[in-house]
Amino acid sequence: MRKLITSRKRNRSCFICKKAIEKGEKYSKKSFSVGNPSQPDKIVNHPTLGMAVEVQGYRYNKSMCEKCTVNETAFKTVKIVNSNKEIKK
Ligand SMILES: [Zn+2]
Repeated sequence: MRKLITSRKRNRSCFICKKAIEKGEKYSKKSFSVGNPSQPDKIVNHPTLGMAVEVQGYRYNKSMCEKCTVNETAFKTVKIVNSNKEIKK
């Protein structure tokens, strides 16, 4: 299961159920990547901006409440069980 962290500040909300995560409540972080973050950024000549940095990708974190973290884990377990069944066929 994903590691649960205790929230130390307010203004956090779950990206799945949109529930507010209050201070002191448990939540976890899910990281997403867009594009190819492992690739170095490129310096390019932009027609209007001149010199510009072309970012190849970036990572960001989203907060997930305790309930959704547990649900996500349960969902993954179901998937693993199903794929094992298929192998046995
Ligand atoms: Zn949630």
